[in-house]
Amino acid sequence: FFFHDRDGHADPFLTTFAYLEAAKRLGVVCHRFTECTGILVEGGEVRGVETSRGTIFAPVVINCAGPYAQFVAAMAGIEIPNWSERHEIMITEPVAPGVCPCMLMSFSGNYYIQQRPHGSIICGMSPEGRPVDFENKTTWQFLEKMSGVLAKLLPRTRGIRVARQWSGMYDMTPDAQPIIGETDVKNFYHSTGYSGHGFMLAPVAGKILAQHIAGRKPDIDFSMLDYRRFARGEHIMESNVV
Ligand SMILES: Cc1cc2nc3c(=O)[nH]c(=O)nc-3n(C[C@H](O)[C@H](O)[C@H](O)COP(=O)(O)OP(=O)(O)OC[C@H]3O[C@@H](n4cnc5c(N)ncnc54)[C@H](O)[C@@H]3O)c2cc1C
Repeated sequence: FFFHDRDGHADPFLTTFAYLEAAKRLGVVCHRFTECTGILVEGGEVRGVETSRGTIFAPVVINCAGPYAQFVAAMAGIEIPNWSERHEIMITEPVAPGVCPCMLMSFSGNYYIQQRPHGSIICGMSPEGRPVDFENKTTWQFLEKMSGVLAKLLPRTRGIRVARQWSGMYDMTPDAQPIIGETDVKNFYHSTGYSGHGFMLAPVAGKILAQHIAGRKPDIDFSMLDYRRFARGEHIMESNVV
């Protein structure tokens, strides 16, 4: 059992829109529903991106395409060993506080379970095999298995209703650690491969890459997260992924 008094939680939906609003206040322009279809490279240096709505010239381009990062990297002629795995998750109707008194997470048991502040219990587990279908679909097999784990660990959840079930893609790398940093194309950067940890890593990952690009010393040295580590066989294995 672990307790850390600086651990916390945040709603990913609200947080994403909060990031967007904060970025807009800093002058960022967000082009929604605009697909990147090509990376412009000239003389080994990035020049911008081709998109479904035209060309955008840019002195710096960051590949942060999550589960599609390997395809965007390939647009610049760069190979990264990422693949994408579909993971399912579900949330129950709100129940009395304390039905799940603390966050439960087991790497050997393959589950995470937490009660949200409004009472719903959110939980997930890794899929069997590696579903790489890019379909954000859900399965009754997950529902059945996850409900069984929930009822076994937290007997008071027996009989409560599941409100919603959904899935998303984990952007995986061979050591389940991110790829952050420069590439063989000058000023084309990676920030990818966050597996099941990208929400909590996003603030620091964004900050250190921005510091590096702006020519400042990053708060944390991230050179070990270079994508060329895989070719060198320098894996930094992260086994704590559900
Ligand atoms: C079920 C589930 C539970 C999770 N739980 C946690 C958790 O508890 N804690 C945690 O830290 N992390 C968790 N994660 C992982 C976390 O959600 C991811 O690591 C994180 O969202 C990755 O962020 P990202 O910005 O790298 O990629 P994404 O959030 O996937 O964003 C990539 C974006 O790139 C866009 N894109 C892709 N290709 C193109 C293109 N060609 N042109 C234009 N845009 C493109 C996509 O549309 C998308 O908007 C979970 C993930 C799942 C699926």
